[in-house]
Amino acid sequence: MTKLLIATRNPGKAREYEELLADLPLDVTWLDAEGIEEEVEETGATFEENAILKATTYARLSGLLTWADDSGLAVDALQGWPGVASARHAGPNATDEDRIDILLARLQNVPPDERGAAFHCVVAIATPDGEVMTAQAATRGVILDAPRGAGGFGYDPVFYVPELGRTYAEMTSEEKHAISHRGKAARRARRLLAQWL
Ligand code: IMP
Repeated sequence: MTKLLIATRNPGKAREYEELLADLPLDVTWLDAEGIEEEVEETGATFEENAILKATTYARLSGLLTWADDSGLAVDALQGWPGVASARHAGPNATDEDRIDILLARLQNVPPDERGAAFHCVVAIATPDGEVMTAQAATRGVILDAPRGAGGFGYDPVFYVPELGRTYAEMTSEEKHAISHRGKAARRARRLLAQWL
């Protein structure tokens, strides 16, 4: 069976990819399980650059076919902020709640019809010899003025999807996967994986 390294230390993302790839004939492994401690600095200016950087670096370090992603939230009224800095704009020790508080404070005077945003996800799949392919997707929503729901991770409680009338954090994981940026990008990336299965 093909071994695939999923190169993330974010438990929210790890859980989602485990579910999204569960039915494939893959022997899935993780950075910690492979004893890989190196951190890849996300120096890219785009989600795509960072996803490629993570996938190619960890494929080289592990010698394994490697799946990595870069994802984040881009808020229209904040000119795409926090974008590639979604995970780190509040500093290294901040929590999801801290990052949500800062986001809501920056949107305090922004009316409901101007609170549009998009979640983006780029998946990169790399081989140890440097071959790399990407798949990407985005999902649009609205940033609420207070959190709603207890599921998911990150900005899920403030990301409201009008078509479903719920935030990401109020959806079951199946409902989120069906429409989310990560679900859509993963389904596209799964097709790229077919050549190694
Ligand atoms: P990175 O891709 O590891 O650089 O981090 C992406 C960051 O964007 C995460 O740490 C979250 O803060 C946010 N993010 C990405 N995808 C989601 C999601 O599905 N729900 C909520 N927040 C997300």
